[in-house]
Amino acid sequence: MEPRDLSANSPYVPGRGIEEVARELGLDPDDLVKLSSNENPHGPSPDAVAAVESAASDLDVYPTTSHADLTEKLASTWDVTPEQVWVSPGADGAIDYLHRAMLDPGDEILVPEPGFAYYSMSARYVHGESSTYDLSKAENFEQTAENLLDAYDGERVVYLTSPHNPTGSEFPREELVSLLDSMADHTLVVVDEAYGEYAEQPSAIDLLDDHDNLAVLRTFSKAYGLAGLRIGYGVVPESWADAYARVNTPFAANELACRAALAALDDDDHVEKSVESARWAREYLYENLDAPTWESAGNFVLAEVGDASAVADACQREGVIVRDCSSFGLPECIRISCGTEAQTKRAVETLNRVL
Ligand code: PMP
Repeated sequence: MEPRDLSANSPYVPGRGIEEVARELGLDPDDLVKLSSNENPHGPSPDAVAAVESAASDLDVYPTTSHADLTEKLASTWDVTPEQVWVSPGADGAIDYLHRAMLDPGDEILVPEPGFAYYSMSARYVHGESSTYDLSKAENFEQTAENLLDAYDGERVVYLTSPHNPTGSEFPREELVSLLDSMADHTLVVVDEAYGEYAEQPSAIDLLDDHDNLAVLRTFSKAYGLAGLRIGYGVVPESWADAYARVNTPFAANELACRAALAALDDDDHVEKSVESARWAREYLYENLDAPTWESAGNFVLAEVGDASAVADACQREGVIVRDCSSFGLPECIRISCGTEAQTKRAVETLNRVL
């Protein structure tokens, strides 16, 4: 027995965890600093942890498929209807749900290059295809409607990421409005705001009031520090009514994750402190790293270091894990997540030694 031909599906290769790297290098995991996955180094809100602990007595019960409490809370946070909120296992899950809702076999999506790999992978799962628009390094990865429209060829779904991964650039809001007004009626524009809490600009969610061709993705994996629980959501056009019930994987967003997310939403202080800390780390990286960097609106900084693979390997041997951006098509760049003060200082000191 063989699976069908899967050669067109790129395999998912996750960043390696601390335990795995520690074992390989014979190092103590406690001595390693992982700044390769844009996680929150301060972890989740203590209230989210308490919510998970108290939910542990209900593990035998299925979650509701509508995730009503979290959905309603998010709807009131963003001033949209509960039907517009699609709770999902991470933003990744929301990408899958959008593709199930939008793509027939052979339909195309348009994605940024360099950019987040999962958009194209997920499209393949439903037999969709993808093409790319380029963000140019020579123009500091600036994001504009014109640049995207130059590559646009009537695709069914168009992605933009703001702040962008791995560059940290934002898609200016006035450019987004002009993009939404320029697209063919059958095209959905998806704004991925996985790093939205760190951004200088407000969320695009309010643009849904006037634009029926927009969906926005958000996650609890980054500023809320809940990556391990896998919880995120999409906010979709009001006219989509009962589409969620037709595309979601039943019970995929688990009850512990939903309760943690609910508690996390009430702890504004924790998010503010996490964002402040990331701002400090960004500045520290710009000012102290002996390599050119790009200004970032995310919780990470892209730096040009020559041979990224060699630099990331050397750094890892010294106990600091950063992201080699070769897989993003940037073999001369690394991406460094914003750590705590101690982690960020150690990363800079280590990188400056190996550079
Ligand atoms: N979008 C972007 C741009 C990301 O960088 C990530 C995670 N690295 C995601 C979406 C997915 O996040 P999650 O599934 O953890 O919510």
